[in-house]
Amino acid sequence: MVYFSSYWESSILLRKFDFIVLGAGLIGKQIAIKIKTKYPKSRIALVDRSPISYGASTRNAGFACFGSVSEIIDDFKRSPQSEVAELAAKRFNGIVKLVEDFGADNIGYRNTGSYEIYTDKIEYNDALNHFETINQMLSDVAGIDTAFRWQNVQSMKMKCLPDALFNPYEGMLNSGMLNEVVNEKAHQLGIIPLYGLNIKHIQKIQNAYQISDENGMTLTCDQLIIATNAFTTELMPELDIVPARGQIVLTKPLDHLPFDGIFHSDKGYIYFRNLDGRILLGGARNHFEEQEETHDFNGLDNVQQYLINYLSEVILPGRNFEIESAWSGIMAMGKEKVPIVKRMDDHLLVCVRMSGMGVALGPVLSDEILSLIS
Ligand SMILES: Cc1cc2nc3c(=O)[nH]c(=O)nc-3n(C[C@H](O)[C@H](O)[C@H](O)COP(=O)(O)OP(=O)(O)OC[C@H]3O[C@@H](n4cnc5c(N)ncnc54)[C@H](O)[C@@H]3O)c2cc1C
Repeated sequence: MVYFSSYWESSILLRKFDFIVLGAGLIGKQIAIKIKTKYPKSRIALVDRSPISYGASTRNAGFACFGSVSEIIDDFKRSPQSEVAELAAKRFNGIVKLVEDFGADNIGYRNTGSYEIYTDKIEYNDALNHFETINQMLSDVAGIDTAFRWQNVQSMKMKCLPDALFNPYEGMLNSGMLNEVVNEKAHQLGIIPLYGLNIKHIQKIQNAYQISDENGMTLTCDQLIIATNAFTTELMPELDIVPARGQIVLTKPLDHLPFDGIFHSDKGYIYFRNLDGRILLGGARNHFEEQEETHDFNGLDNVQQYLINYLSEVILPGRNFEIESAWSGIMAMGKEKVPIVKRMDDHLLVCVRMSGMGVALGPVLSDEILSLIS
């Protein structure tokens, strides 16, 4: 199909926008909300190829977390301590703001706390050696009082070392509810949803940007904000972004679960939680790195089998369970584990590469974009 615009479309419906936010995941939507709240008279379009967003925001595990001890130790190997600390503080503040902005009940948020369990003695000893330093770091940068403390988890009947690190500040949310309430807010504010447009080109024209979809429908705006996360390389190949598929399996409801909370293991690569009487378990992409560096949502059996084995060997040893469903989402990684939030030129900004942390970072990064516009 080739798109030919009518007079009504070009003169009214698709006339120049003040702002276009490309990508209607949690990041794009929160950016559009912040801009419209600050500039209520502005004309803002939220553009996406999918009716309900199709990336990571509607497909994650619903964790409200800011980093386990083994994840933070792993981050120290790649980035200076000050950067790791700043990122953890942003994630912590982001979760607080998310709950404030949208309301705990509206997003299904529960402050259950989190546990990092250990199946590996070396990782456990590493955590033992570092957790006090990390507590001090988080206290200094974010005012968090004793983020991690040891707790015996034998009553949870998992096959792991008896002591886990408990963090009382983390919790779980309902990702479906979160996306819905953010959508509602965007629509209430009068942000114009233009969903179903698979944007293939962005182009700078005099004092404006144009974006066009595969059928040639073209929109023009004064300020373009790109929030397409893992899919940004198709439009801006110069950015350091690689896709990372995250796979999830969900069990059928189980009779009795001896735990309530979110769980981390293996440097944050394994994560699980209870969800409506079921267990949701995801991750393990570190064991299949090359294969999972993809934009393809169609997950592969070997990762699912790894997760199922983890369920039967570690989480539910000796218990029967059945898998109800499985899905995947696509995250954006790069050499550095920090998002790219910057102004590219007078009419173009980007807020991408969430490095698997966009649920927590959304409220803070959308403020950062707002400050770059103001
Ligand atoms: C399995 C899994 C577990 C996760 N766990 C956590 C966690 O514990 N904590 C945490 O904070 N975060 C977590 N995340 C990451 C979090 O979900 C993401 O960082 C966040 O959702 C990214 O939001 P986004 O809006 O930047 O990107 P996305 O949600 O990917 O949205 C990008 C949007 O852009 C649209 N788009 C892309 N290209 C185009 C185009 N050319 N034209 C039109 N539209 C386009 C897509 O359709 C999509 O809707 C997890 C993610 C996954 C997959």
